[in-house]
Amino acid sequence: MLMKFHVKALSSLRPFLDSNGLLWVGGRLENSELTQDQKHPIILHHSDRLSKLLARQAHVSNMHAGPQALFAILSLGYHIIGFKNLVKGISNQCVSCKKAYAKTNSQVMGQLPVNRVTLTSAFHHTSYWSRFCWPTDDEERIHTQSHTSESICLCICLYSD
Ligand SMILES: [Zn+2]
Repeated sequence: MLMKFHVKALSSLRPFLDSNGLLWVGGRLENSELTQDQKHPIILHHSDRLSKLLARQAHVSNMHAGPQALFAILSLGYHIIGFKNLVKGISNQCVSCKKAYAKTNSQVMGQLPVNRVTLTSAFHHTSYWSRFCWPTDDEERIHTQSHTSESICLCICLYSD
């Protein structure tokens, strides 16, 4: 396990081994009121199976937390070297996240017709929409014995809409 670590990455952490063979961060927080895990987190490498399992469990149990939230959660007890590489893998392998953040398809827009792109006065090129209307309330229709209808005509300027 020690072979995976770069000496340079470890030296600034002032690590120490316990009697079980675990590597802990020495740090400078010995006199603080933090818990023992926060003062001396366990050092793991991002390619370790334990790191992957911890990150995956934290990701799922914290509502598919993103990289920053995962870092905050896991930092409470672990110092994972190469954390960014680990998080990238977790997000890419999570089916729920892939479904939630899937790229949507986009349509290729067609060319606009000539009358939409040539400069003319307002309402020179128009489109209209018309519709016959009648009361939709059946009770009102029965009471008034109305068979009349009205029509609506809506003119749209194609250039300045
Ligand atoms: Zn997820």
